[in-house]
Amino acid sequence: MNVLELTGVWRSYPGEPPVHALRGIDLAVEEGDLLALIGPSGSGKTTLLHIAGTLDRPSSGTVRIAGQDLSELPDKGLAALRARRIGFVFQSFFLNEHESALDNVATGLLYAGVEEPVRRSLAAEALGRVGLAHRAGFLPTKLSGGERQRVAIARALIGSPAIILADEPTGNLDSVTGAGIVELFHELHDDGATIVVVTHDRDLADGLPRLVEMRDGLIHRERS
Ligand code: ADP
Ligand code: MG
Repeated sequence: MNVLELTGVWRSYPGEPPVHALRGIDLAVEEGDLLALIGPSGSGKTTLLHIAGTLDRPSSGTVRIAGQDLSELPDKGLAALRARRIGFVFQSFFLNEHESALDNVATGLLYAGVEEPVRRSLAAEALGRVGLAHRAGFLPTKLSGGERQRVAIARALIGSPAIILADEPTGNLDSVTGAGIVELFHELHDDGATIVVVTHDRDLADGLPRLVEMRDGLIHRERS
């Protein structure tokens, strides 16, 4: 089953001249895939991830999440699908510095209509999965960079989304810490998670089961 399917996806930004960030992308991500998306800066990786994650709509073409054609959903439906089915991880973590690790993770379900006690217990479970059960009460400012990214990954994982989309998740980490994050992705993948990782770390990409390379808004080649 394809968790994510892009067919003929274009994304153009108006301007003189317009920028065609994506120029006809066909990509299918199957349940259980662990896929690296690489390519030079400006090749369209982030744009693709945002469109796959329903943060942005394509100019043309079709995006399906778990078979659902996103163009058939109004904005509200799209937000609900995003809250329940998609987990994001960003280079710069985006944690709330004034909330504990546990509360940061629990916000991953804030818009999914899940009651607070359930959110908190799922958050504790997700922190356990990333090896941070013992840091649940800590503020992000008391955590290392690698631990902060693990909290962000727990927030993405909570509620068992269909797919996790990570944009340069090791970009702000030293290589040893980054390797730990990659190892965590492998563990989550072994447990059945579906993950797309944008990276320009070639070593990281080479170690993942699937590798898709972008150039100028197109899929240039794929190694599987
Ligand atoms: P990558 O993540 O691979 O570096 P992006 O998806 O961020 O690439 O960008 C792809 C292209 O789209 C680039 O040429 C970039 O300048 C352009 N672009 C991205 N976002 C916008 C925007 N909001 N407005 C105009 N151009 C944009
Ligand atoms: Mg980018």
